[in-house]
Amino acid sequence: MKEKIQEKFKVLFGVPCDVYASAGRINLIGEHTDYNGGYVLPGAIDKGIMAGIAPNGTDLVKVFSIDYNEYAQFGLEEEDKPEQQWARYIFGVCRETIKRGGTVKGFNAVFCGDVPLGAGLSSSAALESTFAFALNDIFGNGFDLFELARIGQSTEHNYCGVKCGIMDQFASCFGKAGYLIRLNCKTLEYQYFPFNYEGYKMVLVDTCVKHELASSAYNKRRESCENALAAIRKRHPDTETLSDAKRIWLEEVKAEIPSEDYLRAEHVIGEVQRVLDLCDALERKDFETVGELMYQTHFSLSRLYEVSCEELDFLNKVARKCDVTGSRVMGGGFGGCTINLVKEELYDQFIRTAIDLYAKKFGRAPKIYDIVSSDGARKL
Ligand code: ADP
Ligand code: MG
Repeated sequence: MKEKIQEKFKVLFGVPCDVYASAGRINLIGEHTDYNGGYVLPGAIDKGIMAGIAPNGTDLVKVFSIDYNEYAQFGLEEEDKPEQQWARYIFGVCRETIKRGGTVKGFNAVFCGDVPLGAGLSSSAALESTFAFALNDIFGNGFDLFELARIGQSTEHNYCGVKCGIMDQFASCFGKAGYLIRLNCKTLEYQYFPFNYEGYKMVLVDTCVKHELASSAYNKRRESCENALAAIRKRHPDTETLSDAKRIWLEEVKAEIPSEDYLRAEHVIGEVQRVLDLCDALERKDFETVGELMYQTHFSLSRLYEVSCEELDFLNKVARKCDVTGSRVMGGGFGGCTINLVKEELYDQFIRTAIDLYAKKFGRAPKIYDIVSSDGARKL
């Protein structure tokens, strides 16, 4: 990718460039915990965005997207927002950098990537983090990685209409090869955990479906969590978030809240504990426990939080049948991928079986993405 970018840059702009990169991400465990003040456990992956960049001495940004084979040009004032969606991510990063007192002047850029779009691997965060990191370096703004992650998050909020949390940008800025990062979504404290899964492979199996109810169901889940928290707070007023609640506190209010709200809260409280347990297991290199916790999360998302779907549950069952160590739905649910931790010697058999059985049942093959833990935002 690097050579391709440097060549294209030379052809388009006639000068050399610096090359920067960032990564998409997985989340091994910690689902629907972020907006409940709990833990997530993401890590950067070997699929990302790469960009060649050099200042051009003007007030204009000139960018070429290799993957879209499209060119965009825009100024750096608020009213200069470009037409193309992909260019808005870059424009947003420029604007958010400037809003924070940083310097951005005109530059030329060529970029491309290999994060599958909309598969739950956060290609958009990889794009934002690449440019946030690069502009910070090139114009010497001195923002720390957290601020760069926030620049990406604000770009989604203010220029792309996506009210996302901080996890995706956090992972693609802070990611390190061989590590996952446990982030406390309430305090933003974080800790690296070794992720040396020698003898295993990480693979995503993409259902290639996205069921429509996703956003309304999401809002309902959030409401249920708020209701459960409000009930708990009447007895335990210092409970800041649902993740701070003890399981027995939820039992105390069981009769006072709709059973649906109870189930949702049960997922959240259980999931927070599973993240902690999984991190302990990682430190012991106990991948059997890691995998079992992944299956427990899938069960909880499917039966308690009810954000799975037929396709995802099917792939999860196939994984069990193939002796895959761990498997669960990754991301918001109602479609997207399962993330699987599988022993190397079982990998081929699992993939063949998953493709075959899924195609027979649903009439189309799932997509397969091999995943390797990698570095996040960096200069090459
Ligand atoms: P994801 O879940 O992958 O983040 P999004 O819809 O949030 O999906 O972001 C995808 C968008 O990010 C694309 O529509 C495009 O605008 C931009 N994008 C991602 N990867 C690339 C790329 N390689 N080249 C150009 N634009 C990209
Ligand atoms: Mg995105």
